[in-house]
Amino acid sequence: MNETLTDKQCPNCNSYLYYIEYDTEIPYEGKITIKTYTCKTCYYKNVSIQRHEREKPKVMLLRITGKNDLKTIIYRSPDAYIKIPEIDAEISPGIASNGYITTAEGIITSIKEKLSLMGNNKETKVLEERINNILKSNSEEITIIIDDDSGKSKINSSKAKVIEKPI
Ligand SMILES: [Zn+2]
Repeated sequence: MNETLTDKQCPNCNSYLYYIEYDTEIPYEGKITIKTYTCKTCYYKNVSIQRHEREKPKVMLLRITGKNDLKTIIYRSPDAYIKIPEIDAEISPGIASNGYITTAEGIITSIKEKLSLMGNNKETKVLEERINNILKSNSEEITIIIDDDSGKSKINSSKAKVIEKPI
């Protein structure tokens, strides 16, 4: 890993930024290059990941109909949108979001946690209760939809439907 001083300036303090490039290989994503601009004065950092292996854009659907479905292992790539239409939930890929491995239950729980940050009104309370019941007793069936233009996300279940997106 070597550092080079660039002519780009830090957005915070205008010092010149250093550039670091690092190649590595990670599960699910394959070969990647991590590109970092860093400021040695204020510790500003800008990290971007370049992938070298792409797959076809796809949409994956997993219908949650029973407790076992909640345990399904899911890899969410940094580019993936997650939607659960029945509870009107969507998780967008953040600016610097990383890929991660989780379960269907983990995704639903993270939606519930986001909900509790949105305040304490009646609607969020009702929705929170619905999500609790889905997690506890499968009170209703929901669909987890993963929309991923990088095609890297995976749902580890034979029940999952995969639809290739037209490019
Ligand atoms: Zn700086």
